[in-house]
This record gives sequence, C-alpha cells and structure tokens, in this order.
Amino acid sequence: MTQSNYRELQCKSALNRVSGMHFGWSLNPYQGCFHSCVYCFARHHAQLADRDPGEGFSANIGVKINIVEQLRKELSRKSWKGESVVLGTATDPYQPIEGRYKLTRGCLLALRDYRTPVQIITKGTLIVRDLDVLVELAKRAKVSVSFSVPTVDETVWKKTEPGTSPPLQRLRVLKQLVEAGVEAGVGMAPLLPGISDSPSQLEATVMAAAKARACFVWAGTVYLKPGTREHFFRFMKKELPHLLQRYEQIFFKPYAPKSVTIPVQEKVREFKKQFQVRDRRLQKLKPPEKPIQLQLI
Ligand code: SF4
Repeated sequence: MTQSNYRELQCKSALNRVSGMHFGWSLNPYQGCFHSCVYCFARHHAQLADRDPGEGFSANIGVKINIVEQLRKELSRKSWKGESVVLGTATDPYQPIEGRYKLTRGCLLALRDYRTPVQIITKGTLIVRDLDVLVELAKRAKVSVSFSVPTVDETVWKKTEPGTSPPLQRLRVLKQLVEAGVEAGVGMAPLLPGISDSPSQLEATVMAAAKARACFVWAGTVYLKPGTREHFFRFMKKELPHLLQRYEQIFFKPYAPKSVTIPVQEKVREFKKQFQVRDRRLQKLKPPEKPIQLQLI
C-alpha cells in the first residue's frame, strides 16, 4: 500500500448538486481516499477532475479545511430546502485522517443544527466516535448509515480493500449504531464477479449482516468506468491473471450484463429472507411528525 500525503485546501462550495439519483446533494470533506479499494468508483470522478485515478488517488489526499464553515453558510441560505445530503459518494468520510481533522463530525453537527436528512456510506469504523451526534441528528431528521461490506471473505478483503478495517469489525460498529437506535445496514457493494459473488460468499455476508442486526442489506455488482477500469485491470493482471479474460468480456461496457447481475440479486434476496434481514431496532430514533395544518371551515 502506498503512503498518503495530505494537502489542505479551501473549498468554494461544500454541497454538490447531484442529478439522476435518489438524493439531491453530496458532501465530501476529503479528496481521494486512504482506503485504496482497487475497484473504487470514485477513481472515475478523480479522472474527470484531472486528478490521478491510480496510485495518486490514495497517495495524495486533499483535506477541505474550511468545509464546515462553508456548509453552515450554505445551510443558512433562504434558498436551502432541507433536501437529503449524502456523505461518502466520492471519498470515505471516515478514513483515518478524519481522526485528526474532525471535518465529518463538524459537518454532521451543522446538519444536525439545520435538521437536514443525512445518508452516510462508509467502511470506516471511526464513525462510532460520532454516535452522539448521529443520535441527536436522528431525533431531528432522517438518518441512514450504509456500511460498505462487499464480502466477509477475508482473503478477498485483504487483496481488494487494503486500507480498510476488517469487515467483521465494521459489522460490530454497525451493531452499536443499531443498538443506539440509528438506522444502519449493509451495502454489499461492489460485488466482484467470480471473486466475491459465489452463493457461499453471499450467504456468509448476509448471515453476518443479519447477526449484526443490520436494518437492511442491498447489493450491487461492480462497474468500471474510465479511471477505475484501468486501475482495476492493472490489479487483475498482477493478482488474478486467470480471471482477466473473463473480466474483459464481462466489462466490455462499464456495467456488467444482466446475465451476471440478476442471479446475484436473486441469491441475495433469498438469503435476506432466510436470515430475516429487517429493521429490528428496539428503539427507532426518528424526527417528530410535522404538525398538520388544520383547515378552518
Ligand atoms: S472506501 Fe470508498 S471511497 Fe474509499 S477507496 Fe474504498 S470505495 Fe473508494
């Protein structure tokens, strides 16, 4: 794994408009990610922004030191409609450097103050540090945390996500969030065809998620857009050359064909039913209902 250098930056805006997704805005306190997942979709964004999508994605990390202040300015604007904000779309908000800068924590405090619904996607166990803020936020606005755990297969984890904490450790943290009343579940994504999507691997992961009391589990097969694609194929050539030809066929286009993705989705659905994955929180933190305006007749 390459060593990371950190560079402090000033951002011009904190919230990024997102189109064509189920959420309106994204928020990324860092640029690049220490976790170094070989399949990382955000390498594509790095390439679009003229940054190195390869080794440099994890070697040179930008730290947006003014993001909390900037976010507060944007949330206080009259034009802000309180739409849902997602953290973790282009970098992990709980990568190790967050321990020092506390920018994600600062952003969550601001989002709490402005009662903004939040979704977080992370592989970082550091999120447990902010359980107090998540609890307060969940009492004021909708909060949902997806722990990215593509597989609990330790051999695959070590090869493909070299900078992350072990999958079972992530699930232990998930359980702590659920026990505190915060909605948290598992994103089994991205699944790698022929590497992490065998029925036995899927079963083990869904079973572990259910044991950790995940409120939900969703799954998705990897996609390889330019930037991600080249880095991933270099990895395959070096580490799993026997699968290279199959990947070249499957990923002729960025997205895998339905013949690959549908059977995986069906299996995951089957295992979710078998292990009874559902929201089993004893205490469900949620914002108070909005008062209904009564009409005068
Ligand atoms: S943790 Fe997420 S953002 Fe970071 S390298 Fe892995 S996939 Fe990319």
